[in-house]
Amino acid sequence: MTIDQFNFAGKKAFVRVDFNVPLDENFNITDDTRMRAALPTLKKILADGGSIIIGSHLGRPKGVTEKFSLKHILKHLNELLGVEVQFANDCMGEEAAVKAAALKPGEVLLLENLRFYAEEEGKPRGLADDATDEEKAAAKKAVKESQKEFTKKLASYADCYVNDAFGTAHRAHASTALIAKYFDKDNKMFGYLMEKEVKAVDKVLNDIHRPFTAIMGGSKVSSKIEIIENLLNKVDNLIIAGGMTYTFTKAMGGKIGLSICEDDKLDLALDLMKKAKEKGVNLVLAVDAKVADSFSNDANTKFCEVNDIPDGWEGLDIGPKTEELFANVIKGSKTILWNGPTGVFEFDNFTHGSRAVAEAIVEATKNGAFSLVGGGDSVACVNKFGLAKEVSYVSTGGGALLEAIEGKVLPGIAAINE
Ligand code: AMP
Repeated sequence: MTIDQFNFAGKKAFVRVDFNVPLDENFNITDDTRMRAALPTLKKILADGGSIIIGSHLGRPKGVTEKFSLKHILKHLNELLGVEVQFANDCMGEEAAVKAAALKPGEVLLLENLRFYAEEEGKPRGLADDATDEEKAAAKKAVKESQKEFTKKLASYADCYVNDAFGTAHRAHASTALIAKYFDKDNKMFGYLMEKEVKAVDKVLNDIHRPFTAIMGGSKVSSKIEIIENLLNKVDNLIIAGGMTYTFTKAMGGKIGLSICEDDKLDLALDLMKKAKEKGVNLVLAVDAKVADSFSNDANTKFCEVNDIPDGWEGLDIGPKTEELFANVIKGSKTILWNGPTGVFEFDNFTHGSRAVAEAIVEATKNGAFSLVGGGDSVACVNKFGLAKEVSYVSTGGGALLEAIEGKVLPGIAAINE
């Protein structure tokens, strides 16, 4: 079933969204992209004459935690939707069930953070550090058991299920995947956001126009190793940027000063370089760096060769020669995937490289390339530079996007398609 085919008139829809938005210390939303991304789906349901039960997580609570209450986003949701949204202080319990049952067409109920319950993720909580393997196994079994009841209860609120939370589609959680089995094929579907995400991933996986260039930035090789290995089978150019750079540089015998480095991944870096060569992939590494004498925006800075960083200095962004090198590769590409900044873009003095990459992607896109930007930090970059509208697609998924591009079947997607 597709959302466009479905008529929600008189129906109650359980919509799983990803309202895991960043909040400041006063609980103000600092970036509402994820909320706005779900609006087309929510509005379509209301326009049809349906009602909505919204389920989401916020942060990583280990139980009921005021800081992670979804009531903080209620006011903004009211404004975005133009509807007075009701709130259930507990996603289980009497209140949620009564409020869901009483919903009339055009009404919306937001459930409290689903992750206040361990059952949402299906992982045991509160285990003692010295718990034995038997205790761990028993706790896991217990939470999996109660997860069934939890899931069934969520499903009982609604007539149909809509998954619009791409950001959590790689998790087989109660509300993102397991719930789908309580609805038959004609009553479960992707929301518009999810449909768009699936299409964008499909384009990068199955409709590649070459050359295909991936730019992988961020801090650690270890967190991106699987995707990098997988990309070596797909791309023509693989640009390595960000903190990962220095693990490669050191592995090749370069001097990296205090730059971030995973010393236990040096062999892995060399192995990746070897694999790239074998597969005929052009692995593009930084040649120079913008280095700082401390990890701070106000540090003293200079440019130097990436393999000759003085003692006491650390690379916090790429240098001008690297910017040009990366930009030339990007501008010559027809399919582009960007994940992860080239430097510590949170510090204004170290955003230049990421901006150069973003601008090159925009130029390539103008010349007909398909560009997909995903992963929290690269999305924050294109937003910061005001360039989000000038790339082909900005994904709301970080881990989910990378896993999809690795070719993994995402549980949240499979559950709808089953
Ligand atoms: P990731 O979560 O792995 O995508 O990494 C993103 C983080 O990498 C951002 O917070 C950046 O500040 C950080 N990062 C990028 N380049 C560097 C660098 N040269 N040194 C330290 N951190 C970096």
